[in-house]
Amino acid sequence: MSGTAALAADDRLAAYDFGPGHPFQAGGRETSGLDHPFRAGRLEAGLSLLRAAKVLDGGDLLAFGPAADADLELIHDPGYLAAVARFAEPGAAGADPVGAARFGLVGDNRPFPGMDEAARLVAGATAAAVDAVAAGDRTHVFAPVAGLHHAQRRRAVGFCLVNDVAVAIARASRTWPLRVLYVDLDAHHGDGVQAAFYDDPRVCTVSLHETGRYLFPGTGEVHELGRPPGTGRSVNLPLEPRTGDEGFLAAFDAVVEPLAAAFRPDLLVTQNGCDGHAEDPLSDLTLSLRGYRDLARRLHRLAHRHCGGRWVATGGGGYDLERVVPRAWALLWAELSGRRLPTRVPAGWLAARPGPGWWMEPRRRRREEGRDGPAAREVEERNRRTVRTVRRLALPPSVRVVYPLAGRGGTTQRLPGWEPRAGRHLAPRGPLVLRDRCPASLLRRLEVDPGIHTFVRDAEQEREVLARIAEEPASEVVVAHTPEGVVVGYVAVLEPEPGTRFASLPGLLEVGAVEVATGWRRGGVASALLRFAVEPDPFEDRILIASGLAWHWDLDQSGLSATAYRGVLARVFEAAGFEVLQTDEPEIAYHPANLFVARVGGRVPPARRAAFSSRLVRGHHPLP
Ligand SMILES: [Zn+2]
Ligand SMILES: [Zn+2]
Repeated sequence: MSGTAALAADDRLAAYDFGPGHPFQAGGRETSGLDHPFRAGRLEAGLSLLRAAKVLDGGDLLAFGPAADADLELIHDPGYLAAVARFAEPGAAGADPVGAARFGLVGDNRPFPGMDEAARLVAGATAAAVDAVAAGDRTHVFAPVAGLHHAQRRRAVGFCLVNDVAVAIARASRTWPLRVLYVDLDAHHGDGVQAAFYDDPRVCTVSLHETGRYLFPGTGEVHELGRPPGTGRSVNLPLEPRTGDEGFLAAFDAVVEPLAAAFRPDLLVTQNGCDGHAEDPLSDLTLSLRGYRDLARRLHRLAHRHCGGRWVATGGGGYDLERVVPRAWALLWAELSGRRLPTRVPAGWLAARPGPGWWMEPRRRRREEGRDGPAAREVEERNRRTVRTVRRLALPPSVRVVYPLAGRGGTTQRLPGWEPRAGRHLAPRGPLVLRDRCPASLLRRLEVDPGIHTFVRDAEQEREVLARIAEEPASEVVVAHTPEGVVVGYVAVLEPEPGTRFASLPGLLEVGAVEVATGWRRGGVASALLRFAVEPDPFEDRILIASGLAWHWDLDQSGLSATAYRGVLARVFEAAGFEVLQTDEPEIAYHPANLFVARVGGRVPPARRAAFSSRLVRGHHPLP
């Protein structure tokens, strides 16, 4: 499944080197919370292994030069760039330490001679990688000395002088222009990249990292979702120390692929920092090289499924230069280029660097290292909660149905049968037929209006999504279609995904989606559909809930503010017998424009009604 691949690196990048005697090297995570201890040996160790393994030749190398001012200024303040140039002169920082500190050029990022040119080269490599992929010259490019994801607009942070990856994404987004999905696997939160695109709806950033409770830079919580008009396009998965391969991959699978399906990117840019490895002294994620190999495979598949193959990978952080970084780069390059690594790490390369002959750790036996103890279960449970919250915050409900959580077991029985019904609604644009109990076979025969585009690229895919929802045992799809058979709206009633305090109540269903094609809005279609959808008698035995978040995948096209959008949603639901309720469920309570509604059926027994009400507010609210 690979096209042509390239590597954007050469020996000039060895100049990006904070030099020996760095405080970090003195030992352990206590001295510094930061990553990217770039040293000359890093590049040499990685490239020499690729050459020794005979998976890299001259034709694989991508030409690049220093990044231009115009590109760097897409992300960085010109005053900051001037300061980096000024303090790159020998002795300049010593003469003006206060001036240097103002731009973060101190401590971990203390200036070194030539740093200006070195940083420009790193950014130039990543920009060239993006250009080659965007232009279609190469399908995948790997820039190993890149991914300086912490650098901010006017400040060096965490060994990152320029945010090469943000510069390259900005270039892809503005020059080409492409929608970019950025996936950051580094153990540290990709804060600089997130900040650069926090309000940009065309760039979606997702960062998997060790929770900021314990690790630099301390950010990357689940509620950092972006700012209008880019709300929902910043996604964070803060994971627990000792998450391990299995937990990390499970989080990736539950969020990243469905997010890609929802966002519809043109280009995948990844930061493949391997400082989450168990041997890395900077983090406690305890991943293995096998885990990084599996992640590379998933990214590769994702690029082909959702981005037309276009994939730029950057090396990111990683400290263990003997056992981890060169092997992680080799595994990633092998995946991306389709080259086969020899069975063993070449002996000649090993001679200079004592270490094991394997590329990846031997498979661990199950139940090793106390993985099944209470502490491990606690880690698993915390990560599971995080993943469920992120799914609810970041993914449209219909996407969650099509990409269900692994191991999800249905608890709700299918609603007792009623004969499929048809109704009518006269919209300003013409008459519509409303239908419920739509079997998947019928949905697959209908056309879907291109104005319905919750999360797929074309109407045919959307039709398949509706059919998949209809095939779920406890789901109902109700559609509005023209007399010619073109679907212009739908309502999906689903079993709620586990993860909220309401989901575990028996007999509860969720209105997961109310969607009307752009050209058919403001004609009362949504209200008519929803009223029609909840009319059948069996719903009188159920509690129906629905929530609307302050951001919505469609909000940027609706032209409404989050508050106005909440008002529209509330009216649509109230007209169908729902009641707006207050709850301190964190996913609702975190933003005043979020909405929670419920409709309690007439035959719901009082005890169940009371159990539902008692879950609305859990926090301690003393009476005045
Ligand atoms: Zn490929
Ligand atoms: Zn890192």
